Amino acid sequence: MSGKSVYILSLGCPKNLVDSEVMSALLSRSGWSVTDRPDRAGVIVVNTCAFILPAKEESVEEILRMAAFKQKGRCRWLVVTGCLPQRYGAELARELPEVDLFLGTGDFPGIPACLDRLDEDPTRVPAVQVGRPRFLMDAAVPRTVSTPFYSYLKVAEGCSNRCAYCIIPSIRGRFRSRSLDDLAEEAGRLAAGGTREIILIAQDTTAWGRDLRGRPTLGGLIKRLCAVEGPQWIRILYAYPANITAELLATMAAEEKVCRYLDMPVQHISGRILRAMNRKGTPALIRETIDEIRRAVPGVSLRTSLIVGFPGETDEEFEDLLAFVREARFESLGVFPYSPEEGTEAADMPGQVPEGEKLRRQGLVMEAQAAIADEISLARAGSVVEVLIEGTTRRKDFPFWGRTRFQSPEIDGITFVRATDLRPGEIVRCRVTGAEIHDLHAEKADD
Ligand code: SF4
Repeated sequence: MSGKSVYILSLGCPKNLVDSEVMSALLSRSGWSVTDRPDRAGVIVVNTCAFILPAKEESVEEILRMAAFKQKGRCRWLVVTGCLPQRYGAELARELPEVDLFLGTGDFPGIPACLDRLDEDPTRVPAVQVGRPRFLMDAAVPRTVSTPFYSYLKVAEGCSNRCAYCIIPSIRGRFRSRSLDDLAEEAGRLAAGGTREIILIAQDTTAWGRDLRGRPTLGGLIKRLCAVEGPQWIRILYAYPANITAELLATMAAEEKVCRYLDMPVQHISGRILRAMNRKGTPALIRETIDEIRRAVPGVSLRTSLIVGFPGETDEEFEDLLAFVREARFESLGVFPYSPEEGTEAADMPGQVPEGEKLRRQGLVMEAQAAIADEISLARAGSVVEVLIEGTTRRKDFPFWGRTRFQSPEIDGITFVRATDLRPGEIVRCRVTGAEIHDLHAEKADD
């Protein structure tokens, strides 16, 4: 049935994925059936990312790929939502006449009514509906979780930081936290749906609560979430180094459910570059914070992300960054060539670094990190870890795969497990037997 069937393609980060899950549920409630076949869908929605140039290019490619289904499939309306229309609105509509409707980051919840109106009389539906990004989801907003055994919990929306390279604040609006009770209610619902792992996300997760009455802390939120029955793991992504508190670390160390894993993008280690980036905190603070995390949360796995080739980054500043990567020994790390985004302060800064040089610097950081990650993986051999089993493989030697507490979905590696009888969704103790590039090998440990 193509009439009221919709296919949703979600691009970009987990925050965008939560918006796609909300759209999916809102449409289902309005009588739409959500399909995984774009060729069979009457409506195709592309929920886009516009963070940096490669993300924008991917968004446009996917929109054009989906537009082909208006000719060869059953698609009658192509809808584009999220960050790309929020950023480019009418300009995008001129360049992509194949698209029937553009909805911004605060407008997408109106999608069911828009589709009904399109079917009734398309001439009455403005093609570009991009208002101020004010939407903040809450537990009363329906959501169809699309990830297996883990769920993202979006604790806040928007960002009030002003990192010089980042367009997000103008796309997603100022930082708005959801209330503690509301988050606990949604966590309870996710638990009832069978989730084993809750992953806290926001543009800046550690800023949670600062705009709420009484300024509740992230540590307090985590304690409350730990009391929700069902989920066994709680993970924190997108922590801002300057906002890591002793209370948060004490909670991470004390609460059994909290994964000893922290994703904390530091971006750079040169004081001059950090200031030019408009990042809070000094190189000394970043180093002290890393030491403090490792002291307060023994065995923690730290993940970070870095930007190379920021305008004016000298050879010496890059060498300092490379030395820092070797010294800090992050368990995992992502490194991105700086992308000049129009409308950001950094795009107009002098000293833009040539693309080839950015890629060379990225390669050097990746090479240094690969050696560290290998050593860390090999050192895990013999240790016993919990693995959340996510599925089966075609491998005879390792018929199952899953993730440990130090492997976040999609961004870190996975663990291949040798065992005879496991159920996806189960958390089992396994002994690490080896490593293979980013992934681990393990076998079910005797109880
Ligand atoms: S913290 Fe900085 S990089 Fe992250 S979303 Fe906010 S402005 Fe962008």
